[in-house]
Amino acid sequence: MITDLLPLLRQVKSSRAGQWMAACPAHHDRHPSLSLRLLADGRVLIKCWADCAVQDIVAAMGLDMRVLFPPTREWTFPKRNTLPQWRIQALRDMVQLERLILILFRARVGRGILSTAADRKRVLQAISRLELLAEHGVTL
Ligand SMILES: [Zn+2]
Repeated sequence: MITDLLPLLRQVKSSRAGQWMAACPAHHDRHPSLSLRLLADGRVLIKCWADCAVQDIVAAMGLDMRVLFPPTREWTFPKRNTLPQWRIQALRDMVQLERLILILFRARVGRGILSTAADRKRVLQAISRLELLAEHGVTL
């Protein structure tokens, strides 16, 4: 994010809204030759007019390329109290289904039926969904 970058640079000047010039940390830069631009989606474009590679510039600040992208949005449920009743019912049905998947899996393992990679993946998915639902107060 731009707010992680700017404090680490020297001679930062804003040329216009969402645009800055700064001393490039990747080469001996006497006159600011690094331009930064914040895009509407949160990405940051950086360019050194002395042609330093973008990777070298972020590495010189002890960062990696992720700093140029906005934080990824995790998939989240809306808060339970903001949900309509039918939606809560749908989530409860989902809890039931995910639990059923776990019960069936346990029963099969108990009978010595070997699980496949796809089974295990689905079980992990069921567990994380149940955890997410529980975090949001949706249980049976
Ligand atoms: Zn440079």
